[in-house]
Amino acid sequence: MTQIIDGKAISAQIKDELKEKVTNMKKDDITLCLAVIQVGNDPASSVYVGNKKKACEYIGIESLAYELDENTTQDELLDLIHELNKRKDVNGILVQLPLPKHIDEDMIIRAIDPSKDVDGFHPQSVGALCIGQKGFVSCTPAGIIQLLKRSGIEIAGKECVIIGRSNIVGKPMSLLLLRENGTVTVAHSKTENLKEVAKRADILVVAVGRPKMITREYVKEGAVVIDVGIHRNENNKLCGDVDYDDVAPICSAITPVPGGVGPMTIAMLMNNCVESAHLNS
Ligand code: NDP
Repeated sequence: MTQIIDGKAISAQIKDELKEKVTNMKKDDITLCLAVIQVGNDPASSVYVGNKKKACEYIGIESLAYELDENTTQDELLDLIHELNKRKDVNGILVQLPLPKHIDEDMIIRAIDPSKDVDGFHPQSVGALCIGQKGFVSCTPAGIIQLLKRSGIEIAGKECVIIGRSNIVGKPMSLLLLRENGTVTVAHSKTENLKEVAKRADILVVAVGRPKMITREYVKEGAVVIDVGIHRNENNKLCGDVDYDDVAPICSAITPVPGGVGPMTIAMLMNNCVESAHLNS
């Protein structure tokens, strides 16, 4: 029987745990406040920002929403970040990506104070993860580790293959699985014999950004399959990078899309906000 990893239930559990923590922190006068900056009004970004606000409300974190005009200059955005860096009442700063083309994303990410970098994208946060020091971890890969652990899936000693090497998913995922003592391979668009490489995996994490690319030809029987991808198919239904119907029957556990990795990203963002409040209090 294939285990369907329920990201919705696990993320709800994490959010409830955080809600309790926040209630206790408030008793000690520890304030929690996340500033979310959105430039322009990309509809997908607006949905993500709205969901973040809702999660904050549920857990008891105050949120400040900055909805800036599409034509906001890089300097104006930098000024706002510098102001938020200085504010003692703001624990976390998140700039919704992607930014309009006239703004240098790397420069914006570097401007955020690393002690408020709840997205975990600042080079200092990434460096800390790389050398095993404390720091914020990118939310999607951190959520995947929680999905595995809370589903009773052993990582230590397992062959872990990640398909995709982006800065926000693939690379931090490889470091986290390594930290959990997995044996890690990172595959990408130049990898030769991808099917054979993927078939070595006991745990296969797929973040290729290509709808339903991964069929059972890429998957070892009994593997755990984590699907990070999120797309709309021709019928406007959500699907992942994995061909779920083809792969699910042969693996031991799999994340569905929707309801798998997706809900975990926000739960881990909330977790980073709570950690940030501890760091800054
Ligand atoms: P990117 O496009 O930044 O990276 C895709 C990676 O896949 C690259 O490393 C690329 O290789 C590799 N790749 C592309 N095509 C192939 C191929 N044919 N064979 C092997 N490797 C290939 O994507 P992201 O990491 O940002 O996102 C991946 C997916 O996850 C997307 O669908 C995205 O929407 C989703 N996502 C979901 C989140 C969630 O919360 N659920 C959060 C973040 C992302 P190369 O480096 O060589 O170009």
